[in-house]
Amino acid sequence: MKDIRNIWEDRSHVGGSGLIPMKIWYHDLYTAGIHPDSRFPRGRYRLVKDRIQNSKDSNLIEFISPECVAERDLLMAHDVDYVRRFVEGKLDNREVNRIGLKPWTGTFIERTLRIMGGSISAMKHVCEFGGISGNMAGGTHHSHVDFGSGYCVFNDIAICATIAIESLGFSRVAIIDLDVHQGDGTATMLNGNPGALTISVHCKDNFPFRKAISDHDLPLDSGCGDLRYLERVGEALEIIERYKPDLVLFQAGVDALEKDGLGKLKVTREGMSARNRMVLSVVMEKAVPCVIFMGGGYSKPISHTVDSFYDLFIDGAIANSYMQEMDLSRSWKTDNEGI
Ligand SMILES: [Zn+2]
Repeated sequence: MKDIRNIWEDRSHVGGSGLIPMKIWYHDLYTAGIHPDSRFPRGRYRLVKDRIQNSKDSNLIEFISPECVAERDLLMAHDVDYVRRFVEGKLDNREVNRIGLKPWTGTFIERTLRIMGGSISAMKHVCEFGGISGNMAGGTHHSHVDFGSGYCVFNDIAICATIAIESLGFSRVAIIDLDVHQGDGTATMLNGNPGALTISVHCKDNFPFRKAISDHDLPLDSGCGDLRYLERVGEALEIIERYKPDLVLFQAGVDALEKDGLGKLKVTREGMSARNRMVLSVVMEKAVPCVIFMGGGYSKPISHTVDSFYDLFIDGAIANSYMQEMDLSRSWKTDNEGI
């Protein structure tokens, strides 16, 4: 077997004719469902998708259009009153302000439901077939059971974890949240769930200012650069290796970048890429299915965010193809059969 950490330089495995591209769920509403007057850099979704489609590696990724999530899936993790009032457009001003992304468009609800649908489809895909897939949005980790917050209406990570545990027979779901902001909603919603482990590496001085308690919080001081950041990521991965997950949910926000408008860390594009490869190496080594959730990224100009998300999805696709070639995308099933 090749040295897994070198597959991104080697790449000899991605030229085969039998290669199945990594499936990424994406919809034009991810961008178009946000109002042009919103302060949120809505173009980032379409820019990342276009960047991949116009690149020499476009064959590595297959884009799939997500369906709207079913209400029963939202209710696996969310409060029925909150779900119904959002879907019916009846949240009050205070609730809308807490979510942000204003002014809401006529397609904002559909956008939200399709993002949730995309995450769940990506999760179900890897649960069935192994390997890596993802959603080119989502990772909405600030949403709680009965309220949204910080650009997050519903919490796709908590929903996916809950469905995997309660409906699909998974019992050790690890959430590794490397967004610069703490995954407070995810931590709270999965608190006490014996089938899930929440890990958050984040800047301690960033939103949310009242932190929740994850199973493992690995905070960083403002201004920290690649070295310290990657040290913390290494600690998170050691926890994951000890936990021996049967599913990994990776919140891969890139707002720890130095050029980010909201983050307070100083991670370079190279450091961010190294981070992703560290996570993907563990996923490959342990042959564990993995879902990539896009998470935050708000650089000025937005091109830095787009560059890092491009790196993330291409490196994920190369790792996914390696797992297929080495049959690592199925071995977890064998491991679990005896349990
Ligand atoms: Zn963030």
